[in-house]
Amino acid sequence: MALEVIAMAKWQEFRVCPGCGYDLGTGEGDRSCSWGDCPYVPEELDVFCDQCRFDFFTMEGNAPCEDPKVCEHGAPARSHVENYRQWQAARTGAAG
Ligand SMILES: [Zn+2]
Ligand SMILES: [Zn+2]
Repeated sequence: MALEVIAMAKWQEFRVCPGCGYDLGTGEGDRSCSWGDCPYVPEELDVFCDQCRFDFFTMEGNAPCEDPKVCEHGAPARSHVENYRQWQAARTGAAG
């Protein structure tokens, strides 16, 4: 299967938070930016609901909404999950 070679977007090259040194892809290091929310993480990799910080990648969090999967505030974050999945797979080599 031939993969189309596309120019790497900035978020695809993101590795370690320049603020605290946390490695988002592998989970190495201490995530120590304010509120555990690294401001340097590209928007395309932000999988947290804007309102309640529900994590759409791990589906963990305390969502005040009845169903975080359909919460309208989480729409942008949900659309980033696939980005994050592919990016993390590339980072950790899980993609093979
Ligand atoms: Zn950080
Ligand atoms: Zn929400």
